[in-house]
Amino acid sequence: MKNIAILGSTGSIGTQTLDIVRANDDLQVIALTAGSNIELLEQQIREFKPKVAAVWDEEKAVLLSQRVKDLDVEVYKGMEGLITAATTDDAVIVVLAVVGMVGIRPALAAINAHKDIALANKETLVTAGHIIMQTAAQNNVKILPVDSEHSAIFQCLNGEKREQLSSLLLTASGGPFRNMTREMMKNVTVEDALNHPNWSMGRKITIDSATMVNKGLEIIEAKWLFDVDIDNIRVVVQPQSLIHSMVEFVDGAVMAQLGTPDMRLPIQYALYYPDRRNLKGERIDFSKISSINFQIPDMENFRGLYLAREAGKAGGSLPTVMNAANEKAVAMFLNRKIGFLDITDIMEKCMNRHQNINNPTLEDILSVEQDTYDYIDSLK
Ligand code: NAD
Ligand code: MG
Repeated sequence: MKNIAILGSTGSIGTQTLDIVRANDDLQVIALTAGSNIELLEQQIREFKPKVAAVWDEEKAVLLSQRVKDLDVEVYKGMEGLITAATTDDAVIVVLAVVGMVGIRPALAAINAHKDIALANKETLVTAGHIIMQTAAQNNVKILPVDSEHSAIFQCLNGEKREQLSSLLLTASGGPFRNMTREMMKNVTVEDALNHPNWSMGRKITIDSATMVNKGLEIIEAKWLFDVDIDNIRVVVQPQSLIHSMVEFVDGAVMAQLGTPDMRLPIQYALYYPDRRNLKGERIDFSKISSINFQIPDMENFRGLYLAREAGKAGGSLPTVMNAANEKAVAMFLNRKIGFLDITDIMEKCMNRHQNINNPTLEDILSVEQDTYDYIDSLK
C-alpha cells in the first residue's frame, strides 16, 4: 500500500490523481485539500476516507468540518492546514497540485518531513527552485515531475548519463492563438483564451498556455528539475501535442516521449516511478496520423514567453516578480478587469522596476511577491 496526500484535490490534476487512485487498489489517500470547493471536497472525503483534510478559505473550512462531523477526519484551514496535510505522518508521497506560488511553503514542509513530491505545481519551482531542489537533495527526497513535458524528459533520461545530455527540447502546442499577431490578439475574450485546442486544464494554466507564459514557466521548471542551463533548453512548437518533449544527447541522438494528451499518464508515472502500470485510455493510432508539424516559437507576438525566459536567465528574485505579476494579471483577466495583452504588459512593467536579489531567501521571495501585487494595485 502506498499512502498519498493530494494538495489541490478538487482541481484538474487533483481529480485526475483520484482517477488513478480509483483504478489502483494499492494507493491509499491520507490527506486531501481544496482552495474553496467544499462541495466536491466533501464528496472526495466520503469516497476516499482521508485522515486529514484542509481548506484554504477559513470560513469554508469551518463549514466543511460541520458537514463531515460523522466521519473520522480532521479538518484544518489556511496555510497551516496545507502544511498539516503536506506533512501528515503516514503519507510517503505528496501530489502538489495546487495552483500558484502558494505551494512553496507546503512543498518545503513536505520535503523537510522526508516525503517524495509528485510536482504539478510549477510556480513553486519557478520562484523557489534553488531552495526546493537543495532542500530535496539534503533530505534525500525525490521531486517527480507531473507536468507532461517534464515527465517526458524524465522518461527520456531513464538509464542515460546526465553528462551525456546536450539539450532539452520542450514541446508546445502554441495554444489557441498560435499564428496570431499581437494586433489579432488585442480583443480576444476570456472564452477565446480558455478554449485550448488539445488539453482540458485549470483556468490559470489554460490562460498561461494562451499567452505562452506557460512555456516560459516550464523552461525555468526544467532548468531546476534537470539542472540544465537555460541556453540549452529550446522550445519547439508541435501543434498536435503528441510529442510531449524530447532530449538531445551529445552524439546527436534525440529521444522523444509520445502519447495521446492525457495527464493521467505523467501523474501515474510519478506515483509509481520507476514502474509503469496499465492505464486505460486512448492509444496513438499511427495509421490515422498523417503528419506531425513543427514550428519555431514566436517570441515577438508571444512576449510573455520571451519575458519569462529572460527572467529565468537572470535568476534571483526576477522569476518571482515575473510569476507573481502573471498570477495576478491572469486573475484580473479572468475577472474581465484587463485585456489579454495587458497580462504581459503588466509582467514587463513589474520586471522593469525590480532590483534583482541574488539567491533570495524564502522571506525575500514572499516579500517580493507581495510587493509585486501592491505595485499592480497601485497601477489601477
Ligand atoms: P486547478 O485550478 O484546476 O486546481 C487547483 C487546485 O488548487 C484546486 O484544488 C483548488 O481548490 C486549489 N487551490 C486554488 N487556490 C488555492 C489556494 N490559494 N490555496 C490552496 N489551494 C488552492 O489547477 P490545475 O490545472 O489542476 O493546475 C494545478 C497545478 O498543476 C498548476 O500549477 C498547473 O500549472 C499545474 N499543471 C496542470 C496541468 C493540467 O493539465 N491541469 C498540467 C501541467 C501542470
Ligand atoms: Mg506542461
